[in-house]
Amino acid sequence: MTTICILYPELLGTYGDGGNGLAVYERARRRGIDVELISVGLNDTVPDASLYLLGGGEDGPQRLAADLLRTSSFGSRVRDGAYVVAVCAGLQILGLTFCVEGDDEYEGLGLVDVVTSRGERRSVGELATRVDGQLLVGFENHGGRTTLSGGVNALGTVVKGRGNDAKLDGYRTKNIWATYAHGPVLAMNPWFCDEILASVVGAELDPITSAADLLYQERCRVLSS
Ligand code: GLN
Repeated sequence: MTTICILYPELLGTYGDGGNGLAVYERARRRGIDVELISVGLNDTVPDASLYLLGGGEDGPQRLAADLLRTSSFGSRVRDGAYVVAVCAGLQILGLTFCVEGDDEYEGLGLVDVVTSRGERRSVGELATRVDGQLLVGFENHGGRTTLSGGVNALGTVVKGRGNDAKLDGYRTKNIWATYAHGPVLAMNPWFCDEILASVVGAELDPITSAADLLYQERCRVLSS
């Protein structure tokens, strides 16, 4: 059984990123993969899962989510190789430090060598990133600016919008995909959702087609016109 776990959607769900869990669950289910989807609330224990999903959120809830995760088994599960998709606030929480409510620096989970400071202005609007030759599309809305260090690789290079710093978006480690793109990004980018699912189940996937593919193609057409 493959367990997909959405973490704290009450805190990290402002931008509908819980839909990432639904997208990966549904694309697994349609292929006959034995899969379950769990949503972890504020008073729940973080369960063992193959894939954890962290979404975006406002500064206060983001800080609370970081506190809850710090005292949970999440960090050790990720160090042991559990997969994670992290979006925006989620991306920031996994790093060394992030800024909330002005310039107050707050401790992240320290799972990835990245630091998020306050940008000069908020990054709001469409975000398109080139990831291994493919376009990743979505939208962003954040005040943070993220710097990668210690040899951490970006997820991709920014084609439109700001991402980490107007050049790079997110980061990629052996078991973590992180991006500033909301959408939900896995619903808007079926190829990306399948790439993650294939890693999580450790197998090649049968192709499937869905309305999401047509919407993705249309989005790419509009962006390149
Ligand atoms: N609160 C964070 C910021 O503004 C994250 C926002 C988000 O998740 N969209 O940078």
